[in-house]
Amino acid sequence: MDLSYILNDLGEDREAYFNAVTPPIIQSTNFAFRSVGQMRKELENESDAYFYTRGNNPTVEILRKKMAALEGTEDALIFASGGAAVTAAVMGNLNAGDHLVCVQKPYGWTAKLLQKLLPRFGVTATFVDGTDAAGYEKAIQPNTKLLYLESPNSLTFSLQDVEAVTAIARKHGLLTVMDNSYCTPLNQQPVAMGVDLVVHSATKYLCGHSDALAGVVCGTRAMMAKLFDAEFMTLGGVISPFNAWLILRGLRTLHLRMERSAQSTPKVVEFLQNHPRVAKVYYPFLPSHPQYALAQKQMKRPGGMFSVELKADSIAEVERFCDNLKRFVLATSWGGYESLVYPMAVLAGASNYANPNLNWRLIRFYVGLEEPEVLISDLEQALGES
Ligand SMILES: *Cc1c(COP(=O)(O)O)cnc(C)c1O
Repeated sequence: MDLSYILNDLGEDREAYFNAVTPPIIQSTNFAFRSVGQMRKELENESDAYFYTRGNNPTVEILRKKMAALEGTEDALIFASGGAAVTAAVMGNLNAGDHLVCVQKPYGWTAKLLQKLLPRFGVTATFVDGTDAAGYEKAIQPNTKLLYLESPNSLTFSLQDVEAVTAIARKHGLLTVMDNSYCTPLNQQPVAMGVDLVVHSATKYLCGHSDALAGVVCGTRAMMAKLFDAEFMTLGGVISPFNAWLILRGLRTLHLRMERSAQSTPKVVEFLQNHPRVAKVYYPFLPSHPQYALAQKQMKRPGGMFSVELKADSIAEVERFCDNLKRFVLATSWGGYESLVYPMAVLAGASNYANPNLNWRLIRFYVGLEEPEVLISDLEQALGES
């Protein structure tokens, strides 16, 4: 199956809806039947039937098919947010008394799920420095059931050797779940490297326009059926047909946006790396990065996010730099058109994110679709003034 077939055709049945090129938004929550017998038959297989939109919906189903094809899995389930997808994928595969091993510094709300929510139900987690796969193996306990990966992670962009971690999982009979939001299936294929369940915040690159929240879990038919019957239908964190349609719209240009990102970001990174006010750049596609070879092996292309440690004596200095940027937007949720900065200094004094080890010199950047020269000159002026 070629990429443009997946993006433009797969799952779409234009003759069923007036030959419209763009799929319709079937906003209906409910589907009607001619007879009790037909209704009973459809209910037998609710995850593939059109019965009730909390289960399946024609617009959402197109997205399910495309996401499964992109990740190379048999099926996918679409959620209201990446947070809902991560929660379902993890909770759906653990019981009270179980333990999981997770890479350190995963996405913030993934950490909260593992540190705050799951312990209330008797599930515990160990966080490991995933740069050495052996760390995962050392942390395995008799009650370990799952290894969680996020490569690269979304703050320091350090990688896990995905094939090495999945080999450990197979040896110990454990399930692997991996957050692939940063790379998208176009830049990294976790299933081909042995991962069982792939999760996404589709809010980011897959949507691409900063206008819809969505999450995805991809896996085998059997794993998706198990999840459908429990966390998916029960927690009910499902996407609206309209948001599914927005993600479908975004997917049509995913390959172009990922290419643009891969071309612009290294230019911006190079400028920052050579700037005297920059102490360190965290970007796996920098030849000086300690995991550069691994990045080239398991990621097809560079992505648009990286972090920078500024040489600064005070939080105020970091703030001045960020406030002086005119083209980079101060905002958190990346993957859209617009370039972003998200300084860790934001978290200083925010009681709900309190962290005594906060590195307030660290600033996360996302390079959007603007001309890289424009972004570089904006950085140049802001670094000069602050
Ligand atoms: C944003 C993000 C999430 C959470 O997704 P939402 O759509 O915001 O709920 C999970 N993982 C990563 C890596 C993210 O960047």
